Amino acid sequence: MTFNSLGLSEPLLRAISKKGYSEPSPIQSKVIPVILDKKDVLASAQTGTGKTAGFTLPILQLLSDGQEYRKRPVRSLILTPTRELAAQIYDNVRAYSAYTDLRSAVIFGGVKANPQIASLKKGVDILIATPGRLLDLHNQHALSLHKVEVLVLDEADRMLDMGFQRDINKILQLLPPRRQNLLFSATFSKEIKRLANGFMSHPQYVEATPENTTVEKINQQVYRVDKKRKTDLILDLIAGGKWQQVLVFTRTKHGANRLTEKMNKADISAAAIHGNKSQGARTKALAGFKEGKVRVLVATDIAARGLDIPLLPHVINFELPNVPEDYVHRIGRTGRAGASGVALSLVSLEEMEYLRDIEKLIDTQIPAETVEGFELTEKLSDLPPSTKKKNFKSSQPKQKNKKFRGRNPRQNRN
Ligand code: AMP
Repeated sequence: MTFNSLGLSEPLLRAISKKGYSEPSPIQSKVIPVILDKKDVLASAQTGTGKTAGFTLPILQLLSDGQEYRKRPVRSLILTPTRELAAQIYDNVRAYSAYTDLRSAVIFGGVKANPQIASLKKGVDILIATPGRLLDLHNQHALSLHKVEVLVLDEADRMLDMGFQRDINKILQLLPPRRQNLLFSATFSKEIKRLANGFMSHPQYVEATPENTTVEKINQQVYRVDKKRKTDLILDLIAGGKWQQVLVFTRTKHGANRLTEKMNKADISAAAIHGNKSQGARTKALAGFKEGKVRVLVATDIAARGLDIPLLPHVINFELPNVPEDYVHRIGRTGRAGASGVALSLVSLEEMEYLRDIEKLIDTQIPAETVEGFELTEKLSDLPPSTKKKNFKSSQPKQKNKKFRGRNPRQNRN
């Protein structure tokens, strides 16, 4: 399959070849023709599958072929849950539309509204937005949505998780009833289905499994280590291995800050990215990390969701997530675009049950490594009684998902 055979126009093919893509990814091959056919689409695709180009390219083509308006009202609205994802999609839209006459803009909260209002005034064909700021600027009459032809809800599951249901409903009321709807989600819970049923008409269902089937391509390792020794071990691994671009996950924002401080004290440049950081700090941290100025990015799950950092060589779980599917999301940040990566998890005694749940989900026993001087010495009797009960009483599987191989990780949750 080639991009050419998907029926994309010459300006788009030029932009694709400038990006260096030789052939469409599976989701792109499946979804581009359906969108060009002006159908509603319900797509199951995670970050890393190439979904952004999957919806952006056909939208650009439809808009280029469609009716033009002198004042350039918004003709395609792309809604995303996070500011980072909005900024990334905007970068993609700009790159893919470089040789067309279409204009785009991005709006999200946490930064001044005036420059965003100014760019909207000039007229934009494609608007990428987070729900809150969109409603805010709409209330200020800075934009009109009555000419929207194509709506995209990207990472719809995360939008619901983040409590955007009401905002989405309000936004739907502002759109013309006749339009094309595209919904992308990593998971298909009852809530997503209810949301989709509420506004889509006979959507076509498109599914794509990520290219890097997690369990197979990523080199996963577990280091069993005492909780109080984790910081020393992670410093030892990063410094000793001379790792230059490492994404570290912690369970809490506070934990992310603490670890970042300790890394910087140990002369390993690090920055934290989580919900309590200002937009400016988050953008700066991410940019520094991408450019290689920041060696370690310490993130919480929500903050890391949807970040596009290609070819990340190392991901470390400083703590295991208590939701096993989050483990799959986390380690999916490595080994992207066909490259292999390493995902390490530091696991203390009280996290053993989490580890068992993860291994059940991915149907793989993750190999355990030890570093001399960091062997696990914690004993069951050292743990507080509540932890013991929670972690060791029952090891019954909560769900069976033996077939899981980088498939939609939350599909069995409801
Ligand atoms: P996404 O899932 O949209 O976040 O895309 C993940 C990564 O894959 C991004 O870095 C894209 O630039 C890249 N990408 C998208 N489409 C292709 C393709 N057809 N070939 C190679 N890389 C791609």
